[in-house]
Amino acid sequence: MRGLIIGRYQPFHKGHLEVIKCILKEVDELIIGVGSAQISHTLENPFTAGERITMIFESLKEEGLENKCHYIIPIPDIWNNSLWVRHVIALTPKFNIVYTGNPLSRRLFMEEGFEVRIPPLFDRLKYSGTEIRKRMIKGENWEELVPFAVVRIIKEIKGVERLRDISKSDKITYLKSGDTSP
Ligand code: ATP
Ligand code: MG
Repeated sequence: MRGLIIGRYQPFHKGHLEVIKCILKEVDELIIGVGSAQISHTLENPFTAGERITMIFESLKEEGLENKCHYIIPIPDIWNNSLWVRHVIALTPKFNIVYTGNPLSRRLFMEEGFEVRIPPLFDRLKYSGTEIRKRMIKGENWEELVPFAVVRIIKEIKGVERLRDISKSDKITYLKSGDTSP
């Protein structure tokens, strides 16, 4: 039995890890979809899909769970709800059960005939990407909310500096190909 869970993982935190451990009691294998894969360097989505995949893989390795989550797959947005499930299916190995608490996502997968289960939430006020990004910008303790591997990777890529730089402007700037300066 193979499950699927999709998140943005900006960044991957201990709540995500706990829910994955919980789901792995119910399925043999779990596909982790990395949503909004095309977005990075914004306040809500500071990290690239590649950086997020590394965070997830290294955190799972720390826990000895990497063999049950072979597939960590980037999924770009398509802004078309009626095609969303087909889009996910096209990018992933076959799965049987979808884990999502999002009502829209639940409805879309159910309409395509999938079994959908609502995963539990762990200390949601603390373990949330929004809270972690806020703490990073304010210089508060964000490290306690993420696995050691994520602390290491964010330090390596100077992720906090990136987020603070982005937060200096209230406008999001997109660099188009051909632009020579941001
Ligand atoms: P953001 O605040 O940026 O939206 P987030 O913490 O909600 O970040 P997402 O990447 O949006 O993280 O999470 C996707 C999914 O991960 C959620 O829909 C939820 O199912 C699960 N999740 C997030 N936080 C927790 C948590 N504390 N406990 C259990 N599951 C969680
Ligand atoms: Mg969220």
